[in-house]
Amino acid sequence: MTNKLKYFVGNWKMFGDLKSFNIVNKINKFSKKTKNVYKNNKVILCVPSTLIYFYNKKLVSKSISLGAQNCHYNDDYGSFTGSVNAKMLKNMGAEYVIIGHSENRMEGDTNEIIKKKIKSAIKRKLNVIFCIGETLKEKKGGKTFSSLKRQIKNSLEKKINLKKIIFAYEPVWAVGSDKTPKTEELRKIIKFIKKNIKLKKLPKVLYGGSVNSKNMRSFSSISDIDGFLIGRASQSSKKFIDIIKNYYK
Ligand code: PEP
Repeated sequence: MTNKLKYFVGNWKMFGDLKSFNIVNKINKFSKKTKNVYKNNKVILCVPSTLIYFYNKKLVSKSISLGAQNCHYNDDYGSFTGSVNAKMLKNMGAEYVIIGHSENRMEGDTNEIIKKKIKSAIKRKLNVIFCIGETLKEKKGGKTFSSLKRQIKNSLEKKINLKKIIFAYEPVWAVGSDKTPKTEELRKIIKFIKKNIKLKKLPKVLYGGSVNSKNMRSFSSISDIDGFLIGRASQSSKKFIDIIKNYYK
């Protein structure tokens, strides 16, 4: 078993209500119970913003962290109907926020907007889970590496505190598709991302895209992966817990 810190991050997407606390509670209990077994792991559940405050209050002896799935780029209150910013999420108890998810990029988030969101989230003391990934067209055109490089370069300010950012490699074609990259291909891409981010220590890079308890074993052989961003499977406590168990099997 590895001693390196591993992250298991759930992205609930547009799912969940007050009753779904049941899922959070089970995952929290599991995380607490296995603290001495899986010594170095961190569980983060990124739930809809509407639920963060309630879950935070309800959790007894918290062993997991809660996060949000997106934020507005504007740093303070403003005329942005329907939006929630990093300051508001922090006030509700979020510790993390996903930024740059491909589902948000599809709705108009550009690298320029993502850059502002990351800046605002860090200013408001949130940790950022920054998603990058190539589209199927880019992959087929042999442009995976150039696409990732461009997303990293154009979304991060030169002076940004990179220690507050966890990178998540999420190939757009793998998210929500039940397709995953080949092991060797993924190994190379994770290495490439780590090499392209200038930090004293290697940056944390997660993998995300159709992770489930069955395919988990193929990922656990890649020691450079620092954890996983798990979408649909995180909407079930059993599926999410099985993923963690299978990782350490
Ligand atoms: C995600 O939403 O970040 C994700 C990886 O989704 P899924 O696991 O469902 O592919």
